[in-house]
Amino acid sequence: MKNIAEQITDIRKEWGNHLLILAHHYQRSSVVQHADESGDSLELARKATEYAEAERIVFCGVKFMAESADVLSADNQGVYMPETGAGCPMADMAIAEQMEKAIQSLEEVASGWRPIVYVNSSAEVKACCGKHAGSTCTSSNAKRVFKWALDKGDRILFLPDEHLGFNSAHDLGISDAEVAVYNPRKENGGLSADEMASAKVIVWKGFCIVHQAFTVASVEKVRKLLPEAKIIVHPESPKEVVRICDAHGSTAQIIDYVRNAPDGSTIVVGTELNLVQRLAERERGRVIVKALVPSVCANMAKTNEENLLHTLRNWPEHQKVVVSTDIAGDARAALETMLRL
Ligand code: SF4
Repeated sequence: MKNIAEQITDIRKEWGNHLLILAHHYQRSSVVQHADESGDSLELARKATEYAEAERIVFCGVKFMAESADVLSADNQGVYMPETGAGCPMADMAIAEQMEKAIQSLEEVASGWRPIVYVNSSAEVKACCGKHAGSTCTSSNAKRVFKWALDKGDRILFLPDEHLGFNSAHDLGISDAEVAVYNPRKENGGLSADEMASAKVIVWKGFCIVHQAFTVASVEKVRKLLPEAKIIVHPESPKEVVRICDAHGSTAQIIDYVRNAPDGSTIVVGTELNLVQRLAERERGRVIVKALVPSVCANMAKTNEENLLHTLRNWPEHQKVVVSTDIAGDARAALETMLRL
C-alpha cells in the first residue's frame, strides 16, 4: 500500500497541467512539498491567474486566499480548499456593513477617502473596497499602494490590520499623530469629527494573533542572549516592536533577507513558525535561523496531507470555494488595481 505522499504524487501525475496546487508559506512542510507553487498572498494571487490549463486549483491556505483565487481565476477553473474551516480571525474583524458605515461617517466630516484593504479580508470587504475605487494590498506592496493613494491627494482608510497600517504609514514618513484608529465596535469608530478630519490615515482596529505574539520584551530578551543576531519581523507586528528590530518585511522579503545574509550570521525571525523552521532547515550549515517566539497559525495548520488527499480523490462539492458574481466583480476590481500597481 502506498503512503499518503505517494498517493498524492500519483494523482498529481494523472491530472498533469489540469491541476494546480498552491500552498502558502505558513503551511506545514509535508503539504508544501506537494505544491506546484508556494508563496505569500501576492505571489499566489498572481499564480492563480497564470495557469490557464488548470481546471482545478487546490488552495492550501486560509479562506480569504482561496476566495481571491476564485475571483481572479477563469470561469472554467474551480478552486477547492482541503479544509473549509481554515479561516482567518483577522479577516473576520472587518465586515462589509461596518466598512460602508465607516466610509459614510468619514465622508460626512471630510472628503477624499480612498479605501485600501489588506488581502487578509473577506471577498465582501474587498468588494466594498472595489465599489469605492480602492485597492487591495499585501504586506509586500502595502507601501506602494499607500503611496499611490497619497500621490492622488487622498486620505486612506486601511483595514483590517491596525499594525500593518501604522507600519506602512511610518515607512512613508507619516507620523503617528497623523494616523487615527477606527474601532468598528464604537459609535463613529470612537473618533471625534476633529480626529477624523485631521487624520491622513485611518487604520481599522484589527490584528493578527500570530504576529501580535512578538513583543518589545521578546526582542529585548533576544538582544541580551544573542547580541550579534539580526532581528527581522513581519509588519503585522506592533509598531513598537517593528521599530526596535533591524528590519521588517513581508514573508517574501523575510525569505530574501535570510537568503542574502552573510555566511555565519544569526537571524532571528518574527513570523509564523512553519516558515521559520523551513528557513532554518534550508540555511542549515550557512546561517543560523531562529524564531523570535514560536508562534503558529492554528488555521493554516488545519490543512494536512490527509485532507489534501481526500480533496484530490473526492473533489467534495462543499470544499469548492465560490464567490458570488455580484461580489466577485467589485472584489476583482480592487484586486486588479493592486496587481497593476
Ligand atoms: S497568520 Fe494571522 S493573518 Fe495569516 S491567516 Fe493566520 S491569523 Fe490570519
